[in-house]
Amino acid sequence: MIRKVVVVGGGTAGWMTASYLKAAFGDRISVTLVESGKIGTIGVGEATFSDIRHFFEFLDLKEEDWMPACNATYKLAVRFQDWRGPGHHFYHPFEQMQSVKGFPLTDWWLRGGPTDRFDSDCFVLASLCDAGRSPRHLDGSLFKRGSGDEPLGLTMSEHQGKTQFPYAYHFEAALLAKYLTGYATDRGVRHVIDEISDVRLDDRGWIDHVLAKEHGELHADLFVDCTGFRGLLLNKALKVPFVSYQDTLPNDSAVAMQVPLDMKEFGIRPCTTATAQGAGWIWTIPLFGRIGTGYVYAKDYCTPEEAERTLREFVGPAAAEVEANHIRMRIGRSAQAWQHNCVAIGLSSGFVEPLESTGIFFIHHAIEQLVRHFPDADWHPRLREQYNSAVAHVMDGVREFLVLHYRGAARHDTQYWKDTKTRELPDGLAERIEHWQVQLPDTENVFPHYHGLAPYSYMCVLIGTGAIALRPSPALSLTDDTAARKRFAEIRDKARHLVSTLPSQYEYFTEIRRT
Ligand SMILES: Cc1cc2nc3c(=O)[nH]c(=O)nc-3n(C[C@H](O)[C@H](O)[C@H](O)COP(=O)(O)OP(=O)(O)OC[C@H]3O[C@@H](n4cnc5c(N)ncnc54)[C@H](O)[C@@H]3O)c2cc1C
Repeated sequence: MIRKVVVVGGGTAGWMTASYLKAAFGDRISVTLVESGKIGTIGVGEATFSDIRHFFEFLDLKEEDWMPACNATYKLAVRFQDWRGPGHHFYHPFEQMQSVKGFPLTDWWLRGGPTDRFDSDCFVLASLCDAGRSPRHLDGSLFKRGSGDEPLGLTMSEHQGKTQFPYAYHFEAALLAKYLTGYATDRGVRHVIDEISDVRLDDRGWIDHVLAKEHGELHADLFVDCTGFRGLLLNKALKVPFVSYQDTLPNDSAVAMQVPLDMKEFGIRPCTTATAQGAGWIWTIPLFGRIGTGYVYAKDYCTPEEAERTLREFVGPAAAEVEANHIRMRIGRSAQAWQHNCVAIGLSSGFVEPLESTGIFFIHHAIEQLVRHFPDADWHPRLREQYNSAVAHVMDGVREFLVLHYRGAARHDTQYWKDTKTRELPDGLAERIEHWQVQLPDTENVFPHYHGLAPYSYMCVLIGTGAIALRPSPALSLTDDTAARKRFAEIRDKARHLVSTLPSQYEYFTEIRRT
């Protein structure tokens, strides 16, 4: 049996892994987490993807406990600002697409929607984001029985115990790592603060032990490399090559800031905002008490000094005293995330730029897969192969989805945006785009492996970014549209009702902190 695990790295990946393994296996395995006291964590990674709720549920952590401790807020969508042109915005919400007569509502919208906003015509969440609403009422409930809050298309019994919408969270990365440190060490994880100076291999080339400067040799059956972009165990010691995505996703740098803001004055938007810029885009992540913000750019088009200047101008006077953190990003994935007795999770395994907040989703997905494919003493190669292919498909699929944002953006104002229209595409995407122009994405014609993104996400990006011409299905011109018009009206009415009854995020979080 595999009994001893050493996790190297104490960032979000390390602590999520150690906590999850303890929640899954309890005392049947021993887990040691070693992190350097000198080498810092990446210090960003504060917006998540809706699957993250399952991580907290698995650990049996309650929102009312962990959210205030991590200055967390709700995230209902990603807001894309200026991707089509100045002043335009659209949302990619965490809300499943509805269909009428077998066609997605977006298809009906292309045929003739009630307004020029596909997002607020087809999704309730777009209006909640525009209005800055919390998904919960002040008493913590997600909907009021019989009040018209119930989700469209779900009966009350189907909805029992579920959230109104599959929302995600924003949280302070450092506070989450601290919170999970408490969770994991309370459950027996040994926490070692020390620097790994060497990784020693045995005769087969497997990891025998890692050498910590002060604690000496740390032995284990399984080693988890959570050392971030360094990839100390997997890439450096085991020499697993890194497959770069840079040819299709050129952004390789970021400058980040943590900006305190008066939330009473600015409010707390329930979404992450990605605002297009001359050589990339700026993220704005509203936390309770501050925003996390940063400019993701390609250094071939912009210097770090220009990027920092642009970010400071974007934030305004609140950024004056704030330090900027310049980050070089390694974009791509390790050829195999699991090699011999070492599994890399987090930035050491792979990373695409943070446009759809998928870094922590990759970590969560990898940990779930690790538990599902956990090895036995015979290290059956099938488990490793399955794991590697699941992890690779998720990253390759997300890479393709992100490339679509740039190819689809109706911006040509700088060389950076001009080049997004001529740059090489990942294999198969050109054909898929051609297909989507006459038939919107569905499960049959998106990236052919699980990667966490549903076809409706592609529809949002294709319609929202605006450069790729789309046509409604020809069948719709022969189909009675009464039911579709009724559904658009229901969404509008429900959105109005929720906007008028739900509190703002600011009100909600101020209230729950008071009680
Ligand atoms: C610009 C940017 C923005 C991002 N935004 C998002 C986002 O909004 N949403 C999202 O989901 N993800 C985002 N990510 C990704 C996210 O930040 C990471 O996936 C997440 O923080 C996990 O990082 P990590 O734990 O793998 O690495 P790190 O945070 O870099 O941690 C590495 C750990 O390894 C330790 N270590 C390294 N070398 C040694 C050694 N020799 N000995 C001992 N310990 C060692 C360090 O001390 C540290 O504890 C972003 C990433 C970047 C670059």
